Amino acid sequence: MISERVMDAATIASWMREINVSVRSERDHLVQLDAAIGDGDHGTNMTRGFEAVVQALDADPGSAPGKLLILAGRTLVSTVGGASGPLWGSALRSGGRVLGDQATFDGAQLVEVLAAALASVKDLGTAAVGDKTMVDALEPAVEALRAQLSDGTPLDEALENAAAAAEAGMRSTIPLQARKGRASYLGERSVGHQDPGATSTALMIRALQKAVVKET
Ligand code: ADP
Ligand code: MG
Repeated sequence: MISERVMDAATIASWMREINVSVRSERDHLVQLDAAIGDGDHGTNMTRGFEAVVQALDADPGSAPGKLLILAGRTLVSTVGGASGPLWGSALRSGGRVLGDQATFDGAQLVEVLAAALASVKDLGTAAVGDKTMVDALEPAVEALRAQLSDGTPLDEALENAAAAAEAGMRSTIPLQARKGRASYLGERSVGHQDPGATSTALMIRALQKAVVKET
């Protein structure tokens, strides 16, 4: 069964590379979204962070997938000054710890990696769905992936649906008033704008879907 196929360090490296490519190509859009309800640095934060992640992974070939996620998280924390750096940094480190030293992982373990990442974002940032943050994209993606894999949906299709759920979550932030982060300082003026962090999160889940299709 396709859903039982195996992922490994190459899958994680490919995921990080795909994120780097997509945040770079969407950098100006992310900057514009953050300029509307924040300080306009989200596109440059994510681009700087994932460029450094790709460089760090290139310098550390042969590590286990969990170790690569921990390295990626550590790199984000040290290179990204905005809220998204520590949030995604701790998320990737928590996800990496789920995998320990194992060389491969399956779809069910990928769900646990993403669930740990989500738990870490929620723990550190205290945001829930509806607060107009990255959680609005990440939580529906994790839930969709978990539900579909437990229904026996093949991994490719489940990831496609998870990416679509993240994109729907991203769009759902438009009418919301921000309750966390910099955008919350705007109060009602944050309504009508798509959250930059939810937007980059949807790019990251889409990047995962692309990486798994390519690498497994
Ligand atoms: P900063 O807001 O420090 O400039 P960024 O612009 O890089 O950092 O990231 C902004 C994004 O971070 C927001 O769009 C939002 O999605 C996310 N974010 C901010 N605060 C929180 C929080 N407490 N919990 C979850 N996500 C948050
Ligand atoms: Mg910002």
